[in-house]
Amino acid sequence: MSRVALVTGGMGGLGEAVCIKLAALGFRVVTTYSPGNEKVKDWLQGMHNLGYGFKAYPCDVTDFESARECIEIVTKDVGPVDVLVNNAGITRDMTFKKMTKADWDAVIHTNLDSVFNMTKQVLDGMTERRWGRIINVGSVNGQKGAFGQTNYSAAKAGIIGATKALAQEVGRKGVTANAVAPGFITTDMTGDLDEASLKQMIPLNRFGKPEEVAYLVSFLASEKSSYITGEVISINGGLYT
Ligand code: NDP
Repeated sequence: MSRVALVTGGMGGLGEAVCIKLAALGFRVVTTYSPGNEKVKDWLQGMHNLGYGFKAYPCDVTDFESARECIEIVTKDVGPVDVLVNNAGITRDMTFKKMTKADWDAVIHTNLDSVFNMTKQVLDGMTERRWGRIINVGSVNGQKGAFGQTNYSAAKAGIIGATKALAQEVGRKGVTANAVAPGFITTDMTGDLDEASLKQMIPLNRFGKPEEVAYLVSFLASEKSSYITGEVISINGGLYT
């Protein structure tokens, strides 16, 4: 039986591309969506029409109990999770001066606490089976910080630290933990940004495509990445090296 890969936020721009690339590698792909998101039926239908038999389960990644219930159901329905891609994320951009506690908390809970909430549910199984991949979606802004993103930069920097620490704990048990750090990628999240002006500071002179990040994530999920752990791999068109 093929391995199971779970992608949080798989209905988003990056997540969908990751699901598709993981399916191409032969994984049975499962995604999560925010409880109440009504787009799920249409999205699943669209994916089925393209030949992808994805399964989707509601999960609020900010909520430990929701994550526990979700993984319990996935394990029963599909099987134990072998690859976890912690991809769900949000932004609430504004200067620190204007940022409210709610803006700070929402971003930390969704981008960073989610990594704990989801990873905690699957890691013991991975170490018992002596194979697993944790792939965390960070950001260039967790590496360099970004104006108007103290909350997001803190969450993404936290992901980097957690990935490196976790890699040290579970390597002996056959589990790798890595992060990817994308720059500007064309998705809903960057839809309001002025690409024409921002691309001037990117050596490759354009935003990245979700597929480009998805290739990297799928490589990290594969056997081919077996000697890579604790890494943060930048994928940013040369924006920050
Ligand atoms: P999208 O906004 O397209 O997708 C974000 C996804 O996160 C959605 O599928 C959303 O699901 C999910 N999500 C948000 N909150 C929750 C929650 N509480 N519980 C469950 N799921 C949730 O953004 P991207 O695809 O661009 O972003 C994906 C990841 O890539 C994020 O972690 C982001 O920070 C990171 N990233 C993106 C970059 C870019 O330029 N686009 C650059 C660097 C990093 P739902 O719609 O169901 O709520």
